[in-house]
Amino acid sequence: MEYAIVRINRKGGTKNVYNKKYRSGVTLIELLIVVLILAALSAIAIPRISQSATNAKAEACKTNIAVLNSAIERYYVTNGAFPTMLNAVSNDLNYFPDGPPRCPVTKAPYPNGLTSDERIQIGSHAH
Ligand SMILES: [Zn+2]
Repeated sequence: MEYAIVRINRKGGTKNVYNKKYRSGVTLIELLIVVLILAALSAIAIPRISQSATNAKAEACKTNIAVLNSAIERYYVTNGAFPTMLNAVSNDLNYFPDGPPRCPVTKAPYPNGLTSDERIQIGSHAH
C-alpha cells in the first residue's frame, strides 16, 4: 500500500510534500564541493606548518650557539683564559648538565673548534 503525504492549504487543495519533508541528506555534488574545499585549505596550510617547524629548529640552533658562547664566556671568567677547543666547555657537566648540545636541524654535535675571536659564529654553522 502506498501513502501520500500531503499538506492541505487554505483553499482546500492539497500539495504533495513528501519530497521536501524527507529529503534531509546531502547530494554527491555537495559532498564533492566540501571535499574540494577541505583539500584546498589543507594544500595551503600544510606547507606553512611544516615551514614553521623548520624555522623553529633553526631558531633553536641559534639559541644553542648563543648558550655555547655564553658558556665560553663563563669559562673565561672562571679560568682566566678562553678554552682551546669547544669540547672543553660543551663536555663539562658544570656548563651543560644534560650533555653537549646538538644542532636541532642536523642532530649532529657542534663542530669542535673555536674561531679566532674565541666565539662560535652563527654563519660558520650552516645547515
Ligand atoms: Zn644548527
